[in-house]
Amino acid sequence: MKNDDTLLHLPPPALNPMEEKQAMLAAIIASTDDTIISKTLEGIITSWNPAAERMFGYKEFEAVGQHISIIIPPERLPEETFIIGQITKGEKVDHFETVRQTKNGELIPISLTISPIRNSLGQIIGASKIAKDISEQKRAAEKQGVLSAIVDSSDDTILSKTLDGIITSWNKAAVKMFGYTEAEAIGQHISLIIPPDRLNEETFIIGEVSKGNKVDHFQTIRRAKNGNLVPISLSVSPIVDGNGKVIGASKIARDISGEQATQLETAKLYEQLKELNTKKDEFIALASHELKTPLTSINGYLQLLDLYVSEEKPKVFLQKAQHQLKKLSSLVDDLLDVSKIEAGKLRFTTEDFDICEVINNAVDLISHTNTSYKITLHSSVRNCIIKGDDHRIEQVIMNFLTNAIRYAPNSNQIEVFLISDKHDIKIGVKDLGVGIATEKLEHIFSRYYRVDDNDSKVSGLGIGLYLCHEIVTRHNGKIWAESELGKGSTFWFTLPVI
Ligand code: ADP
Repeated sequence: MKNDDTLLHLPPPALNPMEEKQAMLAAIIASTDDTIISKTLEGIITSWNPAAERMFGYKEFEAVGQHISIIIPPERLPEETFIIGQITKGEKVDHFETVRQTKNGELIPISLTISPIRNSLGQIIGASKIAKDISEQKRAAEKQGVLSAIVDSSDDTILSKTLDGIITSWNKAAVKMFGYTEAEAIGQHISLIIPPDRLNEETFIIGEVSKGNKVDHFQTIRRAKNGNLVPISLSVSPIVDGNGKVIGASKIARDISGEQATQLETAKLYEQLKELNTKKDEFIALASHELKTPLTSINGYLQLLDLYVSEEKPKVFLQKAQHQLKKLSSLVDDLLDVSKIEAGKLRFTTEDFDICEVINNAVDLISHTNTSYKITLHSSVRNCIIKGDDHRIEQVIMNFLTNAIRYAPNSNQIEVFLISDKHDIKIGVKDLGVGIATEKLEHIFSRYYRVDDNDSKVSGLGIGLYLCHEIVTRHNGKIWAESELGKGSTFWFTLPVI
């Protein structure tokens, strides 16, 4: 027993240098992450390291003594003949990319390096294999392939460059846009396509990209190989390496010459439309001015004629003619006013006047000429002084009242409100007529706007409310309408009280 104990504590027997080297190699093979296998020239596995166990799933005792075909997929067996052929000739097989099979049938892409094993006489007696799993590499390459295919098939020009401006990639659309082939562009400075007067843009872009910022929709001009200038919209993004450091920039360029042409076309059309509109305004101004003179003289002659006619029937005809003439004159006056507004020449007189008086007069006048209507005035004030043009304010109230009659053919009730507020006086005209749809209300104060769906069949030019709007706002007041289709409307305006 004693002797045995002593034996256990004995130092290991000393190794000769050859044995030492052998032991060291064995230790390296056992601890390496690379799969290392050896086999005879007949393909019988003679060694199998722990990394091989991990890669293929077979334990050392399961693999050693087996034929190497246990890890070769059947369709790849001929590769073994080729490899052994090379080894027999004493040649190494380097970075041979292939696929091997694990114990559970999984296929793994690997890179093989196979070297001959010689005996002490220099004869080749087997082969050592080092296998590297290249699945990750393959996956990355595939991903790279997909990305390059996308970049290459894109209609957008995509290129990349270093932070020093050296072009590092150039897709097919870039070839088409700038005329330089990939070989001509890669390695060149990006100034190849920048017109000299725009070189400073590159400093700005690189400055932004170096800070990690993206430059989006930067509209500029680049130069093609044939000297043509191409208007483009650029989006430049930083390219970062694995450590998050900016190492370059990717650029996507879109040809916007088409867009610019459309913009130009639209601008031209807009100009033409504006010109036409001006011409129309000028025509209306001229026509209404020219109509005014004969109208005035017809009016004069009708008044003269009135003095000579005493018979009842011709007198009635004469009155009808005078009435129609008045309507025509009022239309021409409105048209003249519109032209004046457009030319910025509509003038107002400014005087203090009593708005209550103006409203009372207008209601009286309308009631007098439209006897079938019941016009009720609700007023909380007796007098209220306003600064402005009393004729123009009268024009507004008259317009509200005549519209209330025209657009309420089936009702004869009209109410007028005169409400005093602290700083304002508020005037409203309510009818029970055809009403206006909500979505149309916001347009009724626009020039030449007429509601087309209230089937009122009332003729008009759509300028009365436009003039009212201009008059009220020029008096620092507000104008609006409340209405419900089929139920009636109330038109309002306010004026500041002095
Ligand atoms: P128009 O001469 O056509 O009446 P206006 O500028 O006075 O011109 O009115 C613009 C449009 O607003 C009218 O065509 C009409 O459709 C609508 N409108 C104006 N007043 C009323 C109202 N009291 N009731 C219903 N619709 C109205």
